[in-house]
Amino acid sequence: MKSPFRIALAALVSLVVVACDRDAPPQALTPTPEHRIGVGIDPHSFAEFDRVRIRHVNLDLDANMRARTLSGHVVLDLDRVEPGFQRLVLDSRDLDIRDVNAIRPDGRYLPVSWRFGADHGHLGRPLVIVLPAGIEQVRIDYATSPEAFGLQWLDGEQTSSGRPFMFSQSQPHYARTWVPLQDTPAVRYTFEATIRSPRDLMVVMGAAGNAFERNDTGEYRFAMPEPIPSYLMAIAIGDLVFEEIGPRTGVYAEPQWIERAVAEFGVLEEMLEIGENLYGEYRWGRYDLLVLPPSFPFGGMENPRLSFITPTIIAGDGSLLALVAHELAHSWSGNLVTNAAWRDLWLNEGFTVYFEARIMEALYGSEIRDQLARLSWDGLLESLEGLDERDRMLVRDLFDRDPEQAFIRVPYDMGRFFLDWIEHRVGRETFDAFLRAYFDHFAFQSITTEDFLVYLEEHLIEPSDGALTRAEVDQWLFVPGMPELAWEIEPQSDAFVNVDDWRERWLAAEAELGDLPVDDWSVFQWQHFLVGLEGRLDAETMADMDARFGLVEQQNYEILFLWLMRSIEAQYAPGIERLERFLLEVGRNKFTRPLYAALAESDWGRDWAIEVFERARLGYHPLTRQAAERALGI
Ligand SMILES: [Zn+2]
Repeated sequence: MKSPFRIALAALVSLVVVACDRDAPPQALTPTPEHRIGVGIDPHSFAEFDRVRIRHVNLDLDANMRARTLSGHVVLDLDRVEPGFQRLVLDSRDLDIRDVNAIRPDGRYLPVSWRFGADHGHLGRPLVIVLPAGIEQVRIDYATSPEAFGLQWLDGEQTSSGRPFMFSQSQPHYARTWVPLQDTPAVRYTFEATIRSPRDLMVVMGAAGNAFERNDTGEYRFAMPEPIPSYLMAIAIGDLVFEEIGPRTGVYAEPQWIERAVAEFGVLEEMLEIGENLYGEYRWGRYDLLVLPPSFPFGGMENPRLSFITPTIIAGDGSLLALVAHELAHSWSGNLVTNAAWRDLWLNEGFTVYFEARIMEALYGSEIRDQLARLSWDGLLESLEGLDERDRMLVRDLFDRDPEQAFIRVPYDMGRFFLDWIEHRVGRETFDAFLRAYFDHFAFQSITTEDFLVYLEEHLIEPSDGALTRAEVDQWLFVPGMPELAWEIEPQSDAFVNVDDWRERWLAAEAELGDLPVDDWSVFQWQHFLVGLEGRLDAETMADMDARFGLVEQQNYEILFLWLMRSIEAQYAPGIERLERFLLEVGRNKFTRPLYAALAESDWGRDWAIEVFERARLGYHPLTRQAAERALGI
């Protein structure tokens, strides 16, 4: 029977990966302590935010779609934490700094001297500005580079509308490639912005003030009244239209996508209400989605008030909505209460995957929740096997490493199971009350794992009367690997056991393809089925399966992806043909990186993959390009 959930549920395959289905890039040089100018809890920022802190940012930029630059100025309002300190250190990477002025209390400009520190690769260069006594405002005139890592510029040939497009990706440390600022999640500030674009395009930001239609001037103004960390700075420019979903929700997309997008995301307002019922008021005003071109390197990015979303979750049947639940959940976990450094990423992502599962459960029931949890569990255990000891735990030392390396499955899925386990120990009612109070207590703050632990001790461990102990909690956080304790909450799914049973009988020739009860299968069962076929299919069998199920033309990209992986293993020609089109169209790293890696490892596919990559690379985001090059060994 068709379950009403089937469609809707399909998406979670990627539980793990949602907002950040990204893959860590290669190691790059981080400053050694003696070179490091910044101090404090974040080893990926030069900013001395314990002395001077940005309080408010005012951007004024012109977008040049042809030159691929943003240029103009930014005014930074400062809090002097250490009065009399005479230096402001900002993060910057590939920025063309043209002029720096202090703004005196009477509004007059005072030119000040500045210099760049040494180049530290992916961390960029510290921008060191002399800060005269009494100055609390600085203006920097600058332009971005066409190669700015945090911005992707697309020509008309690379978009559905035929018009140029630009979008940002600031997490984890790419805001510094388009704005000079203290680029660390430890610092929060409000902002306002005035952005000018060509008149036939529209500008949107992760902010209040997004227009509902294009205006005639090409100038758009925004304000973000809630303090955010820099990695949530977000901008996009393109041929965009807007459609409302509910009173607080809607979708922006290129005209060619809007109808399908609105149909797909119709449940958005309901999701928002579920989120509020669980963990308290939504504090960001509106919640809209922006559908990006398929080259967007991630599933989604939780930019506040306006999440950026890949079109590869528009399956036509609402089946990949878990990703939207994930980005929405970040409005509490991550955007409202934020990890103060990337070592604490589990505070953002573990909480969000837990929250996402609760939203999905509220929408579709506990059976679906269990299927999703099991996929996530299996995927986590598999990925743990391939990791170094230092990466197999929730709180990881990322000093001297690229913060991109934070984004592996562990903080997402192990973080989520940690919270499942706490819920199991103290009961759902108690844990929900704790979470509501936690989001409230730390609202609009950036915190460390240690801050969390102090709060946990007082509000959950002590009152629990031994149901929860600090020693057990520490095992989850600081000891490599899944703790023994995790097996208390190992997710079980009868639906998956059933799929396993059918798969094995079919492979043993005890059942025919036509006997498989696939009409009853959820998208998650399909995924579980295909994952279990790794390395076990030949081209002839795949042709039979395609004749019956049409997998090679799947509209559901999660299923299609698994089919393409199996196609590489079996060197199945129709799958390889589809794979070529896929790689030329889609830049979502979660798919492209493993596909390129599998091709590179095959005895026949590496040269072919390099040839396809050379044709596809100009349409890829720098992050996708970097990960693919690494996978291919070029
Ligand atoms: Zn996320």
